Amino acid sequence: MNITEVLHQFRKPCRCGRQHTLVTDAVYIGENAHTPLGEDIARRGFCHGVVVADENTAPIAGEALAASLSLPLLILPGSAHATEIICADLLKMLADLPHAPEFYIACGSGSLHDIVRYTACENGIPFYSYPTAASVDGFVSGIAAMTIRGTKVSYPSRSPIALYADPAVFASAPARLTASGVGDLLGKYICLADWRIAKALTGEEICPALMELEYKVIDELEAVIASAGDAILSDGPAHTEFVCRVMEGLVLSGLAIQLNGNSRPASGAEHHLSHFWEMARINPDIPALHGEQVGIASLLMLDYYKKAAEFFDRPFAYKPEMLFAREKLEPVYRELTDDILRENMPDSCSLAKIAAQSPLDNAQAVRDILASLPAHEKLLAEMKACGCKTTLGEIDLPEDDAFLYRSMRFAPYARNRLTFLKYLEAQNFIHET
Ligand SMILES: [Zn+2]
Ligand SMILES: [Zn+2]
Repeated sequence: MNITEVLHQFRKPCRCGRQHTLVTDAVYIGENAHTPLGEDIARRGFCHGVVVADENTAPIAGEALAASLSLPLLILPGSAHATEIICADLLKMLADLPHAPEFYIACGSGSLHDIVRYTACENGIPFYSYPTAASVDGFVSGIAAMTIRGTKVSYPSRSPIALYADPAVFASAPARLTASGVGDLLGKYICLADWRIAKALTGEEICPALMELEYKVIDELEAVIASAGDAILSDGPAHTEFVCRVMEGLVLSGLAIQLNGNSRPASGAEHHLSHFWEMARINPDIPALHGEQVGIASLLMLDYYKKAAEFFDRPFAYKPEMLFAREKLEPVYRELTDDILRENMPDSCSLAKIAAQSPLDNAQAVRDILASLPAHEKLLAEMKACGCKTTLGEIDLPEDDAFLYRSMRFAPYARNRLTFLKYLEAQNFIHET
């Protein structure tokens, strides 16, 4: 898919009836990306800027980028999580620069982008995205995934004004990072099904153009996986082509988030499971990347959603007093319980929009959506071909039924968004096997 054409398409009124807005006005994924980036900086009339990298990305990209653009380079600690503490450190480093920057360049992976995005938003300064790995779809989104006081939160934040990505950099990133990007993209099967089911059950708005865009991203990724065969993981043109397609898919998916104004097109039950596992205050810290968790969660959801089609046959009973009972949530969410209760306020809860007869009236529509999900074996084979992790054990999480049961029942409370999993939990359909 031609990203420039997509950018152009959505500047016009959309067939969903909305006029979508985009902050990102240029995307370049290609050799020597620093050259068009330099031209872009000059075109916008910027003088003083700064490249922000971390200890991992400075030597592989940040130093060369800063030198070629004659900009100062700030280096954050390696693998820093996006927390309020690291953002405060960056604000101080920025304040100490001799010239106040007019723009920032985020030179790194997902967390570094969130740190720069959050800081850019705080300071009201535009930023460029220069991703160093095809690892997540958040580069061009306007949402900062942060860990504040131990809780994973998503803040409305700032999108980059443009993205420049050089395959000489991101195609040489560790294979694990690219595999994580694949997991984030293949997870779209679940969140798109969630979005369509939410529309069937509550009439929630869907933009068909964004829905098509996300499905096209998956199709193109699957096509490149099928055509690259065994060459996908070994150095060579097929590998570079594959990583470029993953990067393109991630950028397009991020643009869909930006165009929709929230992450609905790119995040559903599979992301809620990932957020739940990442809540370090209630779970042990796990050595897993975002897309690894999302990919594994998607495989689990795929299995479960297909089974759940069988028992989709009773009216909806919304019982907030039982769903959000403190004594139910507290043993799992512990000191985060108040945050979770705030997220799920009974009156504004996404479940409150489901009419009692809706599941019966729309049963066939929901079953059709579930039947359109890919076969588990197909998704598993694609993930394995790309070197993705596919089991909970591989990311140091328990593989027993009790853990799975706890995850599926409680993860939907991590966000107010309506997913099929949240519906199943509210209907008390989730049982330990
Ligand atoms: Zn639209
Ligand atoms: Zn994601």
